[in-house]
Amino acid sequence: MKAPPPKTMAPDDEADRAFMRLALDQAQNAWLLGEVPVGAVIVKDGVVIATGYNRPIGDHDPTAHAEIVALRQAATLLGNYRLPECTLYVTLEPCAMCAMALLHARFARVVFGARDPKTGAAGSVVDLFADPRLNHHCDVTAEVEQAACSALLQDFFRALRLAQKQPAHPAHDARLSGIEVTELDIEPPIS
Ligand SMILES: [Zn+2]
Repeated sequence: MKAPPPKTMAPDDEADRAFMRLALDQAQNAWLLGEVPVGAVIVKDGVVIATGYNRPIGDHDPTAHAEIVALRQAATLLGNYRLPECTLYVTLEPCAMCAMALLHARFARVVFGARDPKTGAAGSVVDLFADPRLNHHCDVTAEVEQAACSALLQDFFRALRLAQKQPAHPAHDARLSGIEVTELDIEPPIS
């Protein structure tokens, strides 16, 4: 008897993972510049039209989260303040500021990687995307490439703690001394 064909992921799952890996590349860019590594990409009709990574320290801009950077780029490119055909992929659960910006832009769908138990606004602390009191809702897919997204943040905070404890350490960067280690720190997964 012929063996059944191997189970494959649904096409959407595969696409989601591929786009999340591109968002992870963006997060690496943030780390290279000494920022908390969070990255985002915006996809329209299966094509990446905008990218962003977290850069509040370098830009002296507390709103320069990965989602906002990508959102501004996409809106400028499309010449529209509303982006209802777009999907945003981000490596960390959006905060309340980014969630509201995405709702204002009328995004249909948001996909994120790691949960943020301290400031996540897609179910961890609050769920703004599904709040019945708000007039727009957004389809959310959580924990795509979750392990890789969490590991990147954990590695970053581990290196940051080391650098803050040892000012002579090669990884020490004066700009990092202002980062609150607990701000986006992710608890290690329970194994
Ligand atoms: Zn944010």
